[in-house]
Amino acid sequence: MKIPDIIIAIDGYSSTGKSTFAKLIAKHFGFTYLDSGALYRAVTLFAMENGWISADKTIDLAALKEGLAGLDAHFGEGGTCIGDRCVEKEIRTLEVSGNVSPVAAVPFVRAYVDARLHAFGEQGRVVMDGRDIGTAVFPDAQLKIFMTARDDVRARRRYDEMVMKGEQPVLEEVMKNLKERDYIDSHRETNPLRQAADAFVLDNSEMELHEEVCWVQGLMQGRFGILE
Ligand code: C5P
Repeated sequence: MKIPDIIIAIDGYSSTGKSTFAKLIAKHFGFTYLDSGALYRAVTLFAMENGWISADKTIDLAALKEGLAGLDAHFGEGGTCIGDRCVEKEIRTLEVSGNVSPVAAVPFVRAYVDARLHAFGEQGRVVMDGRDIGTAVFPDAQLKIFMTARDDVRARRRYDEMVMKGEQPVLEEVMKNLKERDYIDSHRETNPLRQAADAFVLDNSEMELHEEVCWVQGLMQGRFGILE
């Protein structure tokens, strides 16, 4: 059966496993996966490397605005790139995580990322994850999922992920960062994190990945008659 050219929008709190889930369902249905958070992280890394974010997280907005005009953040073979430099690893550090939400709250940064996401999503057949995909970037997405999980589960997941990458995180700091980001993401003025009225909620605190896939298969079958 031909799968329609739909957009699947996945939003939710930090470290709810959105990207793992999104990648898996993209692979399953033969869609392209796009990680919108990676673009916010790339912009943040760019600002940090240029010295435009101070220790108290004040951002030099004029410099960042000018810098963005020449910034080529995109997805390449190995993941997220700035120009021809792959920054996939650098954008996942706790330092970048600590600065990304204030940067993502800046309206012109959101406009920069949104323009890229629209260009990628235009032809459909994409799974995109983030905080405002179903509410602001693609409000007409045919399938919207809102992911959530208990705080302790989320912190432990992010902690384990960082350990696997060879980092030495402190669990309390990881938890603090998640809560900080959730707060800023839900309280910013421009396109805050919200559950879209027509989103299906997935609380995966007690779920294995294969159960999440079964859940989305059920949704795809129910809504689009897709049996895959
Ligand atoms: O998804 P990830 O945790 O990598 O996203 C990093 C940050 O980027 C989030 O904490 C949030 O501040 C921002 N973000 C956003 N809107 C999106 C995706 C991410 O504001 N659509």
